[in-house]
Amino acid sequence: MMNLRHKTELLVVNNGCYLKWIDSGIGYLIKDTVYLNENLLKHPNLLKLVVWHELRHKRNDGDRIQDFVLDFLDPSIWLLLGFMFRYPRACECMLPIKKIDNYMTYDVNIIIFWVIFVIGVILFGFVL
Ligand SMILES: [Zn+2]
Repeated sequence: MMNLRHKTELLVVNNGCYLKWIDSGIGYLIKDTVYLNENLLKHPNLLKLVVWHELRHKRNDGDRIQDFVLDFLDPSIWLLLGFMFRYPRACECMLPIKKIDNYMTYDVNIIIFWVIFVIGVILFGFVL
């Protein structure tokens, strides 16, 4: 019987990626490596959603529009709010610039999210 950790590793490797477990954020795809928060192992359904999300990024193969649509229209992001509440370091996924596995990296979609958010707050502020 294969455990969830190994099953996940096998799935990721079969899709042409490496897998690294980390203790912050939720899930990332950087080059050919999928990074997953290891606390997801305690929540198999969320783990499945996150793994498939990252593998869809892999299939998008650098297509920025497809990645954007995936990140903003994937309904599973709402299910992850509870996870972020439970594991506060998961909230680091919302940082536009972050250090993952000793690499500094930035996330264009998160930057766009915050720009839209700030503009929204400013416009809403004027309305009120
Ligand atoms: Zn994503």
